[in-house]
Amino acid sequence: MVNLCYQTFLELVIDHYSYAIESELLAKNILRSITPESEHEKFESSSYLSLFWTRKRNIPKEIVTFSQTPESKRNLQDYFKNYVIPDLNESLKEEFFQKLEMLISNDDTILSRKKKAFRNLQLGEKDKYLTEVFLYAITKPNKCDVTEVDKDTIPLLAQVDQQCPLCHTPLIKVTKGKTNYKFSVTRIYPEFLDSEYKDAYDAIKPKPSEPDDIINKICLCDECSANYIFNPTTKMYEKLLKLKRQSMFVGATSLLFDYKIEDKVKEILEKIATTNPEGDLIKDFRMKPVDPCHKISEDNYLLLKTIKNDNEVFFWYIKDCISQLDANKSSFDIIATEIKTAFLKLESEGYDQNDIYYGIIDWIIRKQILPNSYRDAVHVIVSYFVQSCEVFK
Ligand SMILES: [Zn+2]
Repeated sequence: MVNLCYQTFLELVIDHYSYAIESELLAKNILRSITPESEHEKFESSSYLSLFWTRKRNIPKEIVTFSQTPESKRNLQDYFKNYVIPDLNESLKEEFFQKLEMLISNDDTILSRKKKAFRNLQLGEKDKYLTEVFLYAITKPNKCDVTEVDKDTIPLLAQVDQQCPLCHTPLIKVTKGKTNYKFSVTRIYPEFLDSEYKDAYDAIKPKPSEPDDIINKICLCDECSANYIFNPTTKMYEKLLKLKRQSMFVGATSLLFDYKIEDKVKEILEKIATTNPEGDLIKDFRMKPVDPCHKISEDNYLLLKTIKNDNEVFFWYIKDCISQLDANKSSFDIIATEIKTAFLKLESEGYDQNDIYYGIIDWIIRKQILPNSYRDAVHVIVSYFVQSCEVFK
């Protein structure tokens, strides 16, 4: 995961040093500054240090505890002030702070309040800022073995088919029965974007109203993620937007990615979504009988029942809406043809009736970018087309 932790912090420092400094030396000096002398012997061993450096271990609790004393803080701040900051490459200094900020802003495990606090600190003295960020970073998981994912990340992994959409590296590795996740959730529109990029980004697609939402995130391998977080480009922004759009079409729906559905379908959906099925408006329509649907296998009881229920309530009402919407019925014909084409496509790929039915529902939702509150209305309209068109023969 490309998150803020001990190793990512130190790597950024080293990458921006004015001369080649060994990671071991820097790691040793920093850990020495935040621990009492009695502990220093431990840090002489490069094998011990490399456990942190190579992300095999988290920073031990006792080091974190030592680091919290006022004396440790003071020592660390002095170290940053007198040794680290002056030794950063002068022409790369700005870039270093920018990258550190980007690393923090992309990290979903940091609360937004904390992020804001860091942003404010960054405007002040840099040594104080680095001290606070580092002391926080060592409390975060440093070990790169991720063996569990939270429920918000599962759909993101599924969307990219568990591989990095940029370089196709598998994001899940199973060795000796142990599952390891190697991916980074990456914001497509970065949370804080420098003004030099902002206009160009906004011209492509403005910042989403909810940047924390899953719609603004994509799973990438750690390397591709770090490349983008630290060097955002409009070219990559466009690419990620496109990949995200594509990735939202999975399973049966993925086959329909290039298929169009008339925008007018939204008008009908809006009407259905806002109509009370028990209300007076459709009372008369409900009285009219609907022919039994013979297109679903007789033993597919539940799907048959779903379609029957939808049509008993809405079939004649939808027919009426469509005729009002479009006097010469051309939109209806287009929508009917598009849905029929989608049905046929999935049928020819060997999907069963349930997969096709729900695949079409997902396709319409994704194609029209509809919120979930529309799902039932889409359901109803697909049932309508099953009943009225030559699909599921
Ligand atoms: Zn990759």
